[in-house]
Parts: sequence; C-alpha cells; structure tokens
Amino acid sequence: STRFSHVPEAPRDPILGVTEKFIADKNPLKINLGVGAYRDDDGRPFVLPSVREAERRVTGSHFMEYLPIGGLKDFNIESVKLAFGDHAEVIKHGQVAVVQSLSGTGSCRLMAEFQARFMPNSKIYIPVPTWSNHHNIWKDARVEQASYRYYLPQTRGLDMDGFLEDIKNAPRGSVFMLHACAHNPTGVDPSLDQWKVISKAMLEGGHFPFFDMAYQGFASGDCDADAAAIRIFLADGHRLGCSQSYAKNMGLYGQRVGAFSIVCDNPKEAVAVESQMKAIARPMYSNPPLHGALLVSKILQDKGLKSMWFTEVKGMADRIMLVRALLRQKLEGLGSQWQWNHVTDQIGMFAYTGMTPEMVDRLASEYSIYMTRNGRISMAGVNTKNVDALAVAMHAVTS
Ligand code: PMP
Repeated sequence: STRFSHVPEAPRDPILGVTEKFIADKNPLKINLGVGAYRDDDGRPFVLPSVREAERRVTGSHFMEYLPIGGLKDFNIESVKLAFGDHAEVIKHGQVAVVQSLSGTGSCRLMAEFQARFMPNSKIYIPVPTWSNHHNIWKDARVEQASYRYYLPQTRGLDMDGFLEDIKNAPRGSVFMLHACAHNPTGVDPSLDQWKVISKAMLEGGHFPFFDMAYQGFASGDCDADAAAIRIFLADGHRLGCSQSYAKNMGLYGQRVGAFSIVCDNPKEAVAVESQMKAIARPMYSNPPLHGALLVSKILQDKGLKSMWFTEVKGMADRIMLVRALLRQKLEGLGSQWQWNHVTDQIGMFAYTGMTPEMVDRLASEYSIYMTRNGRISMAGVNTKNVDALAVAMHAVTS
C-alpha cells in the first residue's frame, strides 16, 4: 500500500456539489439556484456601490501589517452596534466580548470551540432542518449535538409547540443555536411575539442562546428589524452569543469578514472571555484578514456611506421579495394544484418549496435547473428573465 491509500474520499458538500453539476451542464439556458449568493436581475454577481466607494477610499492608503489577533478594533465596535443596537446597554456597560472572525462560518467555529472549552458537558441544540455546515462545525469542535423541532412540513411554517417543548426538555444550561433572521434553509422565522415566548422559555430553562446572524438586513431590508430577535433576548436580560457575517448583506463573500461576540455579566468577565476567544483564534489562523474589515468599518463609520449601504441592502431584499411574488403568481397562473403561499410567506434568500428530491432531480435532468435536493431554491438566482421558465418547470414536476 502507498502512504495515503487508506484515505477515503470525503463526501461532497451538498451545496457546493450543486454548483459542480451546474458547471458541467452545457445547456445555455441552465439556471443555478443552489448556492446562496445574491445576483442582480441579469443573473450577475453584484458588488455594492457603497463597497466600491469604500474600496476607492482605502486603496493605496492603508498598511498591510498583521491585524491584532482579535481583528480591527473599529470594525468590532461597529459590528456589535449593528447587531445589538447603537445604544445598547450591554455595550455601554462594557459587557461585550468580541473578535473579528472569518465570516459567519468562522464565528460559529469559534463559538463551538469556546463551548467545548468553557461550557463543559453542554450540548448544542440545532434546529431541524438547518444550514448543513452547522453539523460539521460543532462536530469538529467535539461538542455533542442535539436537535430541536423548528419546521412543520404540513404547514410549511414554524413548529412552535415542538420548539417550546424541546426547549423545556433540554438539560439546564444547554446552548441553543438560533438563526437570528431568514432561517436557512426554510425561510421561516418566528414572529416577534413568538420570539418573546421563546426568549422567556430559554430563560426559564437556563439555556444559552447563540444567534447565527448571516443575513442581517437581507430578510426585511432593515438591519434593525432583522436584529429584533436578539434585541428581545437582550431586553429580557439574556447573556448570549452572536455570529455576524458580512458575506450577504455587504456582498463581501470571498473577503471572509464577520464578528463573533458574547454578552457577559460585567466588564471583568468580558475581558476574560475575549482573551479566551483570542487564545482560540491564535493557533487556528493567527489573525483575521484585513481588507474586508477595512471596507466594513469605512462604511459603518461614515454616515453617508452607511445610509448608502442601508439603501442598497434594502434594494437586494426588495428584489428577492419581488421575485418571490412573481414566482408564486406564475405558478398559480399555470393552474398549479399546490398551495404556494409559503413562497411569499417565507423570508430571506431561500424558498423551501416542499419539492421532493425526485422532483429536484427532474428539474436538473429535464430542465437544467439546479438546487439542493431538499427542495431549497436560492431566490437570489431568480430574476424577471428566468422566472417564467422556472415556474413552468416547477409546475411540470409538481403536477
Ligand atoms: N450561517 C448560516 C445560517 C448561513 O446561511 C451561512 C451562509 N450560507 C453562514 C452561516 C456562513 O456564511 P459565511 O461563512 O460565508 O459568512
């Protein structure tokens, strides 16, 4: 045998595997609705004008030294303000530990490692279903996983009763991974009233909420509205963790820029917790990348650029809501026997259609339309030019 003959090939990533199949298809009219990356109405990747402007302002003027282990200080300050609110008490009182991270994935990985080290014997509760990488992340940190009920296939909505029961039955001190907004893959979010009930139930159970916020601004078009769940939990006095990503809301996907924060009881705790976050980061990647953090802090620190960005993020959210409405309307117009209200009820980048893996396979083989086999459509890939073809194909495979 040879040196690595014992190494089996790892399973393909279910999401990135869709892109590989899409690329291999020679049909010029093929459509990729797999990966969650925003596209404009012509199907092209979109660089936000506010980001281009920030780039223009930083180009040629900044150093290229290492950032500190915890990243760019201004970036961290602006990030927690964006998540918790400009006037958040917990920020004012120095209760927040925060480091710059390698986007949302990196934040989750730091949280998982922190949990393994400092929340011994606690399990991570993950919703069913969830973004598939969550499972890999906590597995690599060797944290035991449990699941909680979230989505009810019959209603294509929230399983509130199941969710509450699972919170109640979880051992005290469990960590609950919550999608702050625009739940991936279902697009189903609790209402504000439901979040209030969930928050109270978590307090009663003595659990620790960890918010994965990969889509702030992308769900409703309003960054404050999309952080409402976190703010409800803060108002209830929770100590919590938060992952932020600028991949979607600033279109900085490949820059790998995000923030990982934990709200503590007091400044002394926050200093200790932050020092441990850095102790985790140092042997993992030493320090985070510079360029994206500079762009984000330029935008968030400049009133003009920030309001420009708010308008742009709303523009992206609005376009998604428009194609949701169009897709539903076309399907209904074709006389579909399925109910399609969930296409417009759900929010964020994805529509969780309820199509079976077999239907998804037919869309690929007969119509060159690609998506994950759980029937999740990345609405960002839908536009006014391809929505008719999509509706016709979906109608064909669902009737
Ligand atoms: N969490 C969720 C729920 C996501 O959907 C994503 C992106 N698909 C991420 C985290 C991480 O994305 P990134 O690492 O690119 O910020």
